[in-house]
Formats: sequence, structure tokens, C-alpha cells
Amino acid sequence: PSANAALLSLGQKHTTHGLGRVIDDAIIENASGSYMSFDDGRTMLDFTCGIGVTSLGHCHPQISKAAADQCMSVVHGQCSIAFHTPYVRLIEELIPMMPHPSLDSFFFWNSGSEAIEAALKIARIATGRQNIICMQSAYHGRTFGAMAVTRSKTVYSAGVHPIMPGVFQTPYPYFHPLGLPKETSPAELSEYCLKQLGIVLTSQTAPADTAAIIVEPILGEGGYVSTPVEFLQGLRRICDTYGIMLIIDEVQSGFSRSGDYFAIEQSGVKPDILVVAKGLANGFPLSGVISRKELTDKLVPGSMGGTYAGNAISCAAAVQVAKIMKGGDILPNVRARSKQAFDALNALATDPQVGKYILDVRGRGLMIGLEFKSPAGPAEIKSGLVSQASSDIPAGLAAKVMKRCVKKGLLILTTSAFEVLRLIPPLNITEEDMKKGLEIIADSVREVVK
Ligand code: PMP
Repeated sequence: PSANAALLSLGQKHTTHGLGRVIDDAIIENASGSYMSFDDGRTMLDFTCGIGVTSLGHCHPQISKAAADQCMSVVHGQCSIAFHTPYVRLIEELIPMMPHPSLDSFFFWNSGSEAIEAALKIARIATGRQNIICMQSAYHGRTFGAMAVTRSKTVYSAGVHPIMPGVFQTPYPYFHPLGLPKETSPAELSEYCLKQLGIVLTSQTAPADTAAIIVEPILGEGGYVSTPVEFLQGLRRICDTYGIMLIIDEVQSGFSRSGDYFAIEQSGVKPDILVVAKGLANGFPLSGVISRKELTDKLVPGSMGGTYAGNAISCAAAVQVAKIMKGGDILPNVRARSKQAFDALNALATDPQVGKYILDVRGRGLMIGLEFKSPAGPAEIKSGLVSQASSDIPAGLAAKVMKRCVKKGLLILTTSAFEVLRLIPPLNITEEDMKKGLEIIADSVREVVK
């Protein structure tokens, strides 16, 4: 049991149920590298990275030291008062990492949601247009603008409407919610969805009223799906044709998570606005909106900012993150560990005993989703999804497997949409620890479906 049981129950009593928790019977005591220890004596292998944040492992010595040193010089140098050194050093470090050289104007904020708000604002001001097109299944955050472009689950906005108006949704190229067979090729899915987007632009929001299209290059909370390059390239063409801004949300997929610095790189697509957070500062609150100076100079002085925007300690930590990522060891490890994980999960998906419960293994780099089948219910039957769902499949497999993994010492999450177990291990995880985590997943799946 928790060594701080009284403190734990105080926390439970005085926080809202609106804040969910995976571990509710212990308190985190210590976190180091790929492991997290709790006050009940448990030490767990962490395949969550605090939802894709501590990508270089918990308390990375180089990053923690830079933050501690920064604490002794400038903690808060308000960015609307003056630059502090880490703010500018961070820009210097990030410029060569950008997926396109045109991305030359940086604004730092605290969270991903705030950065999304800033991106929407820049798009509206830069184009003088109002409407935003978002993707079905997208997740962009819980503030009002971010919530308006979030479509993975109703729980985020239920009961709080009306939220930001002027948002339109277009289908996302993943076979499952489209009711298409799993064998549909990425090119076919993209063609279908680009056609649907054309319909949105002719029947719902005219190009001349459309400020931006926002997309995650790897769908995060919505199910860990790698967006086909054909679709991203098609979005770019449409945006170029009509002067619409393309906002690329790499809050979860950015900073080497995909096996490249940014997931958009594979497509060769140039973002007009790139949104980053999470892995950027390895646990210190920091996000970034990166665009073109020519666009961001349309903002009037004072229209951007925030008390804690671009905090000095967070920026100092992020400078080290960038240096480590450019050091040459991280990307090769992401690719090698990714292959290791895909090999193991694909073997599980073709296993004669458990394979029939698995619908899909997908994602990219170390952002991997293991999707289970779900029983056929009225929603599936109505939407034509019966081919992928079946009545002899138990409900809630992803959550059941997650719980079993946690019992066995592997901290892991599901995504908010579909039956997806999601793997977000540290990018510098060892081969041995990856093997250990994958074995726990395989054993847990076997135990749950037996
Ligand atoms: N965009 C994406 C793609 C995300 O995954 C998230 C967080 N899960 C956000 C935006 C919101 O970031 P935050 O929770 O820091 O506000």
C-alpha cells in the first residue's frame, strides 16, 4: 500500500473526478530514465512518457542540470518585457531542425492547447478569414478554440457548448471510421478524403472564408494513425490553390517521436504554421508556434503573449533537448526500437490464438497503436463497420489489456478513440527494456482473451 495513504486520500478527496488517473492507489515518488517508482514500492517501466512528454527519459541529467543552473540566474524573464538568453538560444537551436526553412518565426507558450489557440489566431489574422477545417478524430486540446477543432471524443466538450464557431469537419483517411475495408490503400483513402474535403469547400465553407486546415501528421489521441503522405500532399495543394493556411499539429508526433525530427518530413509538405509542445522540453511546460515572419508580422504588437510564455527554465531545458536530438544517437534508436516493436506486435497480430482479437498494428517511430476489435453494437451495424466487429469479441479489450499491463509493471495508456493500446516509450529506451515491455504486452493480451 501507499506509504503516504493519508496524503493520497486527501488528493482523491479534493480533486475532481473530471481528472482521470491510471494509478489511483499510490503516489509517484521518483522517476528516472525509462522507469517510474511509486510510494507503495512498485517500480514500473514507463511506456507513456507522461503522454509523450519525457521523450528522453525522466530526469535526464543534462536537461535537469541545465534547468537547475537556469534557476540560479533567471527564473522568470517575461517575454513581453525582454528576451532572456534561453529564449533566443532555443530559436537558434531549433532553426536547423525545422521541417522547412521558411519556418522562421517562433513564439513560445506553455501548453499544446495554448499553442493551438495561437495558431488559429495567426491563421485568422494572416488570411483575414474566419473558418477552420479540422479532421474527424482529431485531438488538439481542451481550451475553447482547441476543443472546437477536437473531434476524437465528445467527453472533452460535452456540456460546455457553444464553443468556438466557424469550425468545419472533414473525414480523416483511416479505414475504420470511414467504414472501408482494412485493405484500402493509403492512396485510395487519401483520394476519397480529399474528395470529401472538396465537398466541404463547395458546400459548407467557401475557400474565401476558410483561414486554415488543421491536421496531425500522426493522429494522436484519436487512435495513433499515421496520416498518409498522399493526403498531406493533397492538403498542401488545396491550401496553395486557395490561399488557406495549413496548420500542422506536431504536439505529440514532433521532436523525433516519429523517427524523424518531425513527422511531416516524410511527406515533404511545408507547414504554414507548425505547432509543437510535449517532447520539446522533456517535461518542463513549453510549447511553440512556428510560422513565417511575413505572416506573423501581420499581428499587431501586444496581440500575442502570456505571463509565462517561453519560461526561462523550460527554454533552458529545451535547448538541451534540441542538442541531444541533434547529437546523432536518438533517431537511429527510435528507428531500431520501432522495428523491434512492430515485429513483436505484428507477430502477436498473426498469432493463431490471439490474432483474431487484433484489428490493426500501426503508427510510426515510437508512436505505435495496437488496435483491438470490438463487438458489433448498433453503432457499428449502422455505420457499416460490422465487417471489422464481431459478436464473439469481448468489449473494452484495450482498457482490459492496459490494466493487466499495469499490474505486471508496465505503465501504458489507451487512446481516447477506438480500442487502441498506445505505446509511447522513451526515445532512448534500451533494446532490453523494449523487449521487456513488449513481453508484458503479449502476456497481458493472452491472459485477457483466454
Ligand atoms: N495537440 C495534440 C496532437 C496533442 O496530442 C495534445 C495533447 N495530448 C494537444 C494538442 C494539447 O496539448 P496540451 O495537453 O499540452 O494542452
